[in-house]
Amino acid sequence: MQQQLNLLNRISDELNKDLDPDRMLRRVLDLMVSHLNASTGSVMLFDPQNRVAAFILQREDISDDRANRIVGTVLTEGFAGWVLKHGEGGVIEDTHQDNRWIVYDDQPYDVRSAIATPLRRRQRVIGVLTLVHDEPHKFTQNDLPLLNAIAGQAAIALENARLFKETEQERIKLSAIINSTQDAVLVTSPNGTVLLLNPAAQELLRLKGRAWEGSQLSDLTNNARLVKLMLPEAPTTGEIPLPDHRTMWASITEISGLGRVAVLRDISPYKMLDQMKRDFVTAFTHDLRTPLATAKGYIELVRMDGPVTERQEEDLVGITRAANMMKSLIEDLLELSRLEQLEELTREKVELDKAVETSINTVKPLADSKKVDLIVDDVDKKFIVEGNSVLLSRAMGNLLDNAIKYTPKGGKIHIKVEAQNGHAMVSVADNGPGILARDLPRVFEKFYRARPELDDIPGTGLGLAIVKIITEQHGGQVWVESEPDVGSVFTMSLPIFEDQGDKPD
Ligand code: ADP
Repeated sequence: MQQQLNLLNRISDELNKDLDPDRMLRRVLDLMVSHLNASTGSVMLFDPQNRVAAFILQREDISDDRANRIVGTVLTEGFAGWVLKHGEGGVIEDTHQDNRWIVYDDQPYDVRSAIATPLRRRQRVIGVLTLVHDEPHKFTQNDLPLLNAIAGQAAIALENARLFKETEQERIKLSAIINSTQDAVLVTSPNGTVLLLNPAAQELLRLKGRAWEGSQLSDLTNNARLVKLMLPEAPTTGEIPLPDHRTMWASITEISGLGRVAVLRDISPYKMLDQMKRDFVTAFTHDLRTPLATAKGYIELVRMDGPVTERQEEDLVGITRAANMMKSLIEDLLELSRLEQLEELTREKVELDKAVETSINTVKPLADSKKVDLIVDDVDKKFIVEGNSVLLSRAMGNLLDNAIKYTPKGGKIHIKVEAQNGHAMVSVADNGPGILARDLPRVFEKFYRARPELDDIPGTGLGLAIVKIITEQHGGQVWVESEPDVGSVFTMSLPIFEDQGDKPD
């Protein structure tokens, strides 16, 4: 008994030593042959279609041709076929007395007794393990439990080897893809240790040939933008300028238990095109300013030269409206292009309630003239955000301006500032015409004007695009909730820098 346990232990050790199925099975065969005093042995493995996938003989290497011939007969008429069919082990005490043993022509050794057992994965027989002896009556039914136990272990080890091979193949495939991609791939752990840099990423960080494994990213590069983006909780996308004037676009995925995986793509050609487009718009709009001012001057001259008839005055008002509209368009375009080119905001502490107050004061005359009520609901807290007060007032002013513009006479506009999850929520709610669901996702796009029936309300379609870019430059977000014929609520959320509690009187 002790001897059998020792053998099982040794076989288990052997099986765990090697993950190559072929070598593993050969070692098991050797050990079993010697411990069960057999002359030799073999293992046959089947694929999922029950075709023979491998045939290993302990004593000799066998040609495919001969293996196929032997296997074909033993599986249809022979002992291995019997084991496969019955799904259990068996003993042949004397091959001369048992027709399950088939003697083939060129058998190099005599076989007089045999023992065999199935190898199982779950319920399926995946192979047959056979030991033989050149003398009869060398094996008994009592040997079967030990052989079954060994076969059980071998089957588990084979399954492990198969899984390992599959995982390894997947790993090799993935690593080939990662290594050959033009995009730089970078993986860091939550504490900033570099776990993976593909060749493109090594080139990008100028690390070719340098050891980087296990280093801190901040020790490998002084690109602060990249190091910051790889920190846990940082945004998952962003532009990364390189010292050679290229710009990369980083797209990052946070994988729990691993860290951050960044894919960096060179977007320099797109940036260049974008810059050319912006330069063109800026130059073009700039050049329109002078002729427009001249045209407006002539309108005044016509009036001064007067008298003009009532009809002519109506025409002049129309021309003036169109010229003013064009002026707003030029100004909005120039503003947008200036904001888009702004690399980094110059930041100062901004008292949000003051910025709200400034924007309300700016639009108050318009609200009064339209008899629209501006109601300040809740701006009793003093939130400090970091950014540019002029731009923030401009963004809020645009939201208020729209609310007044689109809300009919006698309407009410509520302005609120409150805190939520470390963000100041500035909301402007009106009881105007609202926005249709189909237009909601698009109103922040450049030049998008919803509801053609409201077209006689002057506008450029750029106001909300300006609000969006200003909010994002302040690390915030802006969105709208609206119901047609009930009203709209525009909300800007801005990260609070300091919350100074209730405003002192
Ligand atoms: P515009 O110069 O046309 O006002 P904006 O970018 O400011 O351009 O707004 C885009 C569109 O969103 C507007 O044309 C309008 O259809 C819709 N919109 C904006 N604010 C409101 C509002 N408060 N109520 C209803 N519709 C609005």
